[in-house]
Amino acid sequence: MKKILLYFLFIAIAGCGSNNHIVDSSINDVTGAVAASFANTITPTDLETYLYIIASDEFEGRETGEEGQKKAAEYLKNFYVSKNIPSPLGGEDYFQDIPTEHLRPNLNPSENVVAFIEGTEKPDEIIVISAHYDHVGMSDSQIYNGADDDGSGTVAILEIAEAFQKASESGNGPKRSILFLHVTGEEKGLLGSKFYVNFPIFPLANTVTNLNIDMIGRVDDAHSNNPNFVYLIGADKLSTELHTLSEKMNSKFTKLDLDYTYNDENDPNRYYYRSDHYNFAKNNIPIIFYFNGTHEDYHRPSDTPDKINYELLAKRTQLVFFTAWEIANREKTNCT
Ligand SMILES: [Zn+2]
Repeated sequence: MKKILLYFLFIAIAGCGSNNHIVDSSINDVTGAVAASFANTITPTDLETYLYIIASDEFEGRETGEEGQKKAAEYLKNFYVSKNIPSPLGGEDYFQDIPTEHLRPNLNPSENVVAFIEGTEKPDEIIVISAHYDHVGMSDSQIYNGADDDGSGTVAILEIAEAFQKASESGNGPKRSILFLHVTGEEKGLLGSKFYVNFPIFPLANTVTNLNIDMIGRVDDAHSNNPNFVYLIGADKLSTELHTLSEKMNSKFTKLDLDYTYNDENDPNRYYYRSDHYNFAKNNIPIIFYFNGTHEDYHRPSDTPDKINYELLAKRTQLVFFTAWEIANREKTNCT
C-alpha cells in the first residue's frame, strides 16, 4: 500500500517538474540585443541606492516578524507600486501573510512580499525569482545590517523586476510569467519559502524554475585575485538543460567565472540544502542558487553596504536577468 501510494505521489509531483522539462535543447537561444538593452538598466548606482535603504539602521536588521522587517516589507511594496509592477494577489496587497503557526512559536506573524509580471503567451507557466529579505536583527543593541545577506539579493530582484517591467511597457514583455518572491524567515530555517511551496500562489506543477539569490555582493577569500566570479549551485541537479542555458547566457553576455565548487555533492558546506531554493528543489522544480561564498563579515554587524562591490553585484544581477529572460521567452518546455 505504501509503495503504491508513494508511486502515485511521485507521478503527481513529477508532472511538469520532471527532469529536463525546462527546454528543448535543439531550440536556438532567443536572448539577444533586445534583452541586453534592458539588462543595461540594471546599474551599480541603482543597486547601491536601494541597498543603502534596505540595509539601513532604520530596518534594524530585518528580523522576522519584528518592526524593522515590517518597514522593509513596506519599502518593497512601495517600490513595486511606484514602478507600476502589480501584485499577483490583486490590488495593493503585496503581502503573502504567514501566521505564527507556520513560522515558529516565538515569532510574530510575518509576510513574503510578492510582485508579478504576467506572461504574454504562456501566462500559466511561472518562473520564480527569489531572495530572502529577512536577516538576524539586533543583538546587544548592535544592528546586523545584512547588506550582503541578503540585502544584495533583495535589491537584485528589484532591479530585475524593473528591467522586465520596462521591457513589458515597450512591448517586449516575457512570454511566460515571472513571480518576484521576497521570502521571510530564511534565517529562522527557510520558513518563508517553505510556506510558499505549501501554499503556492501559482501551482507548483506549472512552476518551471526557481532562480534564488542569496549573497551576491561580495568577494570571498578564494577569489581575491579574480573577483569576476559567482558560485552557481544546483543548476544541473534536476535539469541539465537549465545548466546549459545558464552557461550559454553567461558566455554570451556577462562573462563571469562560474564556480561550481559548492555544487559538488561531497562538499561539506552543503549549500544546496541551506537556502530557499531547496524548498523548490524538494518539489522537483529545477533551481539555480547564486552565491558569493562567505566572508569575515558573514552574520556579523559589519555586513554593511559600504563593503559591497556594486559593479560585480550589477553583473551578477544581469546574469540572473538574462537567464530568466531566456527561460521566459524560449519556444518550448516539456510543460507545453
Ligand atoms: Zn542568506
